[in-house]
Amino acid sequence: MSVLGVYGVEHASSLVYYGLHSMQHRGQEGCGMVSAEPSGEIHRHRGYGLVQEVFNEEKLSKLEGTMCLGHLLYTTAGGGRNTDNIEPRSFLHNTGSFAIAHNGNIVNAKQIRDYLESKGSLFQSNTNAELLAHLIKKEADEPRIFTIMEALDMLEGSFAFVIMTQNRLYACRDKYGIRPLAIGKLGDGYVVSSETCAFDVMGAEFLRDVEPGEIVTIDHNGLRSRKYSLKSEHNMCAMEYIYFARPDSDIDGCNVHAFRKESGRRLWREAPAEADIVVGVPDSSLSAAMGYAEESGLPYEMGLIKNKYIGRTFIQPSQALREKGVKMKLSAIRSIVEGKRIALIDDSIVRGTTSKRIVNMLREAGATEVHVRIVSPTMKYPCCYGVDTTSQDELISAKHSVEEVCKIIGADTLAFMSVKECLASSNGKCEKMCFACFDGIYPTPMTHDISEINKKK
Ligand code: AMP
Ligand code: SF4
Repeated sequence: MSVLGVYGVEHASSLVYYGLHSMQHRGQEGCGMVSAEPSGEIHRHRGYGLVQEVFNEEKLSKLEGTMCLGHLLYTTAGGGRNTDNIEPRSFLHNTGSFAIAHNGNIVNAKQIRDYLESKGSLFQSNTNAELLAHLIKKEADEPRIFTIMEALDMLEGSFAFVIMTQNRLYACRDKYGIRPLAIGKLGDGYVVSSETCAFDVMGAEFLRDVEPGEIVTIDHNGLRSRKYSLKSEHNMCAMEYIYFARPDSDIDGCNVHAFRKESGRRLWREAPAEADIVVGVPDSSLSAAMGYAEESGLPYEMGLIKNKYIGRTFIQPSQALREKGVKMKLSAIRSIVEGKRIALIDDSIVRGTTSKRIVNMLREAGATEVHVRIVSPTMKYPCCYGVDTTSQDELISAKHSVEEVCKIIGADTLAFMSVKECLASSNGKCEKMCFACFDGIYPTPMTHDISEINKKK
């Protein structure tokens, strides 16, 4: 999922279009935009599909205004299709309309929702945006910033919220610092985005990250900052660096490509492979493969090629579709891999489907040995912060030892990176991160146990 907001720029929706497109890798299920005119009039369009499928010039021309919010939807398995779940959500209220886009997952959502429903609130969707809206509306007699701050402090879990009122944007990040959110400057206006790669395509200049527990108000006075919570921890989702984000993005001051390359170097030191060439699985593992090759002195080769026009396999909802997708997505280059011992670098193993197919593909193309090196630790626990890493039952490393996984995927040898080395790959830029899907240490209070998370998936 990702959020994007533009304040104070002509044709804000066109910029959001380009920004969302640059972050398409974060969610391909659906997308939406809500724009606001200085008069307070709000326009909205949303739909299932990629950004360029949902929006065209005609749709964008109707999204008038100098403020705009955008959202990309990434459905968790079994999430079902309900257009109401596509954000941004907009709300009418006697103190003025507002819209909200969200990235993350609130772990005490059920408790808050039960409480609000018992008080008479009626929900139209399952979105965390609507949950926050109900909390904000509850105390409408105070200035809005205070009701928003109170509402945010009631939420446990991960979030990056962008709230658009008739004349302001509010950018808010969870107090645990799990999900990213950055602010950029664009002419006289501002941009807020889940990933900084959007700033480059929009012509914006990176200003800073929103801090954990912070709410930044953006309006005609510029930027103002407040802390809505005394807590402000840095537990950035390790999977952002490992897999999700684009290599050209900087998250909490650490560049994603630099992180991945360093993790490749460290993985060689932790788990060297006797190989002739290093091959990375495109695209998310290429930076790490470069690091592994550089540190080992082995040649870095393009043994696999990706068809760019197919979405990320994992995001397609059913296993059958996923399997089909893997085949369509990658091909081995015979002239490169034939007769070679390969060190195959991939970012993660979730169910094991991808690795098994790739190892098989390389062998069919003539590789003599395949040594799989994974640039993340073994994934054993479900994520409850908005990343669809599937239920624990389906996580291959939750049920099998490394030796067993090696056999299942058909590799000659297999090694994963340790949590310690993974964290060290930020070169001191991150002191802590969330590694909960790897080590089971969840940085927030948990209002339900893992079996409940599993049931939900
Ligand atoms: P699997 O076949 O289930 O083992 O999937 C592993 C591949 O999925 C990895 O190589 C990653 O590139 C990718 N991946 C890892 N985590 C996610 C995620 N949360 N969403 C989509 N793709 C993912
Ligand atoms: Fe990211 Fe894993 Fe933490 Fe979820 S549990 S936020 S995927 S590191």
